[in-house]
Amino acid sequence: MDYTILVNNGHLLAADYVPEDLIEIHEPTGSKLDPTYINRLCIGAYHAFKDMQKEALKQGYEIFVDSSYRTYQYQQKIFEETALKKGLEHALKFVAKPGGSEHQTGLAVDIIFRRNKQMIEEQTETDPEIKWLFSNAYRYGFILRFPKGKEHITGVAFEPWHFRFVGQELAKKLFLADMTLEEYYASQENNDLSNSPASIT
Ligand SMILES: [Zn+2]
Repeated sequence: MDYTILVNNGHLLAADYVPEDLIEIHEPTGSKLDPTYINRLCIGAYHAFKDMQKEALKQGYEIFVDSSYRTYQYQQKIFEETALKKGLEHALKFVAKPGGSEHQTGLAVDIIFRRNKQMIEEQTETDPEIKWLFSNAYRYGFILRFPKGKEHITGVAFEPWHFRFVGQELAKKLFLADMTLEEYYASQENNDLSNSPASIT
C-alpha cells in the first residue's frame, strides 16, 4: 500500500479498486446517509488514528472517525444525489467525482468529536479539537488535506474535518513546508525534470 498516493478529480481510482488491508472501526459516529455504513481504514492508517485518538483524549478531546473508506459506488451515489439536489456545479465543487475521492483509498478520515457527552456534527476551524488536530495530526502521519487558502490548488473547498494518512515522514514534510499533496507532487515532477539528462546539457 502506497500511503502517499495522490487521488483527486484529476487522478481517479478505478471503479474496482479496493484496498487489501481494510479493517473495521466501531466507535460512536454522527448521523449517516446510509445506516448500513461501516467505517473501515487501511491497517496503517487505523493504528495511526488510534494513537492520535488516545493522545487527543489525554488533552481532553474526544475525536472519532465519522466517515472513512467508501466504495466507488458509494461515492457515485453521494455525487449523484448531491447533483440532483443542489445542481452539478455544487456537486463538482463540494463532492469528489466517483473515483476521485480519497475515501476510496481507505486512508482518509472525516473526524467528528464529542463534547459534554454530545456529538458535534458541524466542525469548524475554531473548535479546540480541530485546532489540536491542525497542529498535531502530522505527528501521527495525517495531513489536513483541504486547507483554507489552498482551494485553487486542491480544487476542493476548505474541509477542517477531512484528514488523510500519508505516513509520518511525508506528513511532517508537508506540515513544515505548508504544502498540499498536489504541491508536493508538482515539486517532485519539477525535480525529476531538472535531474533529467536533457536539462543537464
Ligand atoms: Zn472526507
